[in-house]
Amino acid sequence: MCDLLLSADVQGPTRVQYFIQNDPDGACQGHKISSCSPGPVKDEEMLARSIDFPLREDPASGLNDSLFQDAFTIGASTQRIDDDWDKSKSVVHARYEERARRRRSGEDGRSANPDWLYVGSVLFLASELRESQLDAVQRAGRIRIYDTAHSSDDPFHADVMVSADDLQTNKQLRKLLRVILMTKACKRGLFVSPSLAPDDQRLKNIKIELR
Ligand SMILES: [Zn+2]
Repeated sequence: MCDLLLSADVQGPTRVQYFIQNDPDGACQGHKISSCSPGPVKDEEMLARSIDFPLREDPASGLNDSLFQDAFTIGASTQRIDDDWDKSKSVVHARYEERARRRRSGEDGRSANPDWLYVGSVLFLASELRESQLDAVQRAGRIRIYDTAHSSDDPFHADVMVSADDLQTNKQLRKLLRVILMTKACKRGLFVSPSLAPDDQRLKNIKIELR
């Protein structure tokens, strides 16, 4: 099964669907998917997810459940923290700052977005997301995290994916899953990028504890 996931050059909005079809119960989270990664993501691993401005949906009211929208389609990118956060944070912030710079300039192949801004990262344990369930509709591997490093330049890349093809017509439960993901990922607060002052006015309405 893992071979299929590893060899698949599947990108775009059906990527998560492809993973779910080929790994229905999420067992491959325990197997090494990427040839460039140090191995599968362990339950006790901490991961970082970047927060970028402008926020998706309703930017005026701060962080919202669109934070993990792409976990249903292309996969929600995260960085595995290979050591404790205090030792890793400069590397993680620098990686996300560089990605934001490329997004501003258009070097990433998308149209240039001069307002794009990395503001910081949220941190969560792999187990905190993986153990999440919908009480109403239980499913094995509802929320998964796979080691999905695309290249040796980025060995700690991982994707959060949600198995929700049984909820195509249930907007409420899909929203509930997004809210669960956001709530769990944000409970430690936002680790603000060193490029921003902690009292930066742009962070005023974000509605998350700043650290
Ligand atoms: Zn497998």
